[in-house]
Amino acid sequence: MQPFTYHSVDSVAHARAALLEHPQAQVIAGGTTLLDLMKAGVERPDVVIDINRLPLAAIEVSPERVRIGALARNSDVADDATIAREFPVLVQAFAAGASGQLRNMATVGGNLLQRTRCPYFRDNISRCNKRVPGSGCDAREGYSRMHAVLGTSDACIATHPGDMAVALAALDAHVVVMREGGEVRFTFDGFYRLPESTPEDETALVRGDVIVAVDIAPSPLHRRSRYLKLRDRASYEFALVSAGACLDFADDGTIARSRLALGGVATVPWRARDAERMLDGAAPAIELFRRAADAAFTGAETTPHNAFKVELAKRAIVRVLSTLAEGTS
Ligand SMILES: Cc1cc2nc3c(=O)[nH]c(=O)nc-3n(C[C@H](O)[C@H](O)[C@H](O)COP(=O)(O)OP(=O)(O)OC[C@H]3O[C@@H](n4cnc5c(N)ncnc54)[C@H](O)[C@@H]3O)c2cc1C
Ligand code: SF4
Repeated sequence: MQPFTYHSVDSVAHARAALLEHPQAQVIAGGTTLLDLMKAGVERPDVVIDINRLPLAAIEVSPERVRIGALARNSDVADDATIAREFPVLVQAFAAGASGQLRNMATVGGNLLQRTRCPYFRDNISRCNKRVPGSGCDAREGYSRMHAVLGTSDACIATHPGDMAVALAALDAHVVVMREGGEVRFTFDGFYRLPESTPEDETALVRGDVIVAVDIAPSPLHRRSRYLKLRDRASYEFALVSAGACLDFADDGTIARSRLALGGVATVPWRARDAERMLDGAAPAIELFRRAADAAFTGAETTPHNAFKVELAKRAIVRVLSTLAEGTS
């Protein structure tokens, strides 16, 4: 591991100032992503800024929004009674992620910024446009079973590996960032960037930005929500495919509003808006859910190794929507 200087800061302003003063610095929260990558030599900060003393771990509830602090631990959010009642999809996504020990350390801000599990990115040897811009992409000709089929580019086909972010995308959450001039709020679509020709640019963050919170609005739509993750083993494993969904029903039993987000299949937490358009206003039925799942993968680009993900994800979508619709027809 490259030697580094350790700073501990006690305010967001100090964290921002330290990031701006040291262009290679990185903040550390739970450390469960950053330390692995530092040990592998993939991340090489010369200064590590510990933000764990910042007062950003609270979950604040008001009628308009629930604000989850960026330093709230994944396990604390999952155990919170309001979160469990208002956003079941989020609690289920946490339960399906990593392990108990990791969830006790991992923070909400760090979880948003976890890096891809693409082995060519993490081995620090292969050609990887994300790690070394312009060097090429060994995954394209290599083994790509875990890679993305949606949102890919010639430069990169790596998946965003997270579970929490898929649930938050389905919940229309906002990422709250402190930068010069005050707080800035990003939708998920605005926060995560498709790889296109610059896969190293993963988010809308700029130097000095500190994530301070995630905001979610409580609503009947979000209360009826669910997360389904399919993986090679039942725990401590990243998603092959996952689906987070919310459904709200009108008095006549039709779907009033829907939200569908996908994980394991795309380069960013993926909102399946074509599928949502098909669901909204329609009567719930297995055939409808299958058509919506087909619509979600219209633009999919597969490799010989990951083509199975398309059918697997479609079945996950049908299952999660069917479960949400149970008892309504
Ligand atoms: C073995 C293993 C299995 C895992 N399995 C899963 C899984 O199944 N599903 C899943 O979703 N995740 C999984 N993870 C990933 C895990 O969820 C993340 O490592 C964790 O959420 C990162 O949070 P952290 O607080 O530890 O981040 P850190 O490692 O502290 O930070 C991660 C990145 O975010 C930056 N950062 C952190 N906080 C802020 C902030 N407030 N503002 C600006 N930048 C910030 C850091 O500088 C760093 O670049 C797994 C990880 C491991 C090691
Ligand atoms: S898929 Fe992306 S992260 Fe993986 S090797 Fe290619 S450029 Fe790097």
